Amino acid sequence: MYLLKSIVVISLLALSLAAGAADPVPDYPAEKLSERVWVIHGPTETPNPGNKGFMNNPAFVLTDEGVVIIDTGSSLESGRMVLRQIKKVTDKPVTHVFASHIHGDHWLGNQAVREVYPEAKLYAHPVMIEQARAGQAETWVAMMERLTDGATRGTEAVIPDIALSDGEEIVVGGVTFRTYLSDWAHTKTDAMIEVVEESVLATGDNVLYMRIGRLDDASIRGNIAACDQALELKSKYYVPGHGPSGGADVIEPFCNYLKTLYAKVGELYKEGLSDFEMKDTVVESLSAYRDWSGFSDQVGKHISLAVLEIEQAEFE
Ligand SMILES: [Zn+2]
Repeated sequence: MYLLKSIVVISLLALSLAAGAADPVPDYPAEKLSERVWVIHGPTETPNPGNKGFMNNPAFVLTDEGVVIIDTGSSLESGRMVLRQIKKVTDKPVTHVFASHIHGDHWLGNQAVREVYPEAKLYAHPVMIEQARAGQAETWVAMMERLTDGATRGTEAVIPDIALSDGEEIVVGGVTFRTYLSDWAHTKTDAMIEVVEESVLATGDNVLYMRIGRLDDASIRGNIAACDQALELKSKYYVPGHGPSGGADVIEPFCNYLKTLYAKVGELYKEGLSDFEMKDTVVESLSAYRDWSGFSDQVGKHISLAVLEIEQAEFE
């Protein structure tokens, strides 16, 4: 009898889980960065059940025509949370959305925008659109669901369908959005977006602050170049992919992390050391970043990646 009851209870639970929507993501306050730009800063963590997958920096820009979002977050519920914060500031519709790159924590919130604003234009790097359509979209939906123990359930990939080109300027309601695309930096799909009149640059994950993230899809040299490009713009404000926004001081540390990593690994590689043998010395040279979220998880992989790139460079 007890067993039968348990089976009934478990079946009902399974049914309600399958049918039920995911829990809402709690409100994170939108912070005003400049006259027309607001940023919702997610926690500098990896997606987990506690944060329900929300851990990036969606930004939105108020224009005379409507609202432009750069990165909508990691899930349907993250996107809905972003829309709730926008509603607190304006009644204008969301008209345009940019995705900074292929990683799902940045754009799976598009679904929330589409369900309320079916006319909104969704932009991304052409290779982002290609990769998403070729299966990365489903991979990311599944990964977010797994990492959050199902908290993002119900999320469907709404893939951007308008391809950006490098240096393109899109004017919306008196505000100019200028794009900086690279072939290979954090990924092969990165689009940095400058809000020209506000002197704001949203870097996507080409720049991180207070968090050392995965570089599994990155070219360290390409990422350094994108970092330098961001710095050369001398924007007044920067919005990194993760971590607090601010001036150039939020950009420089990660650029220096990549440069120190690549230089130190190169030096020790020349001395004939393997990635395993050089690890302690490289970690020592990066001690300034020891307290950044994700450092100890990622630094070993970053050293191996740097060794591969240095070997590769010898054949160029
Ligand atoms: Zn990323």
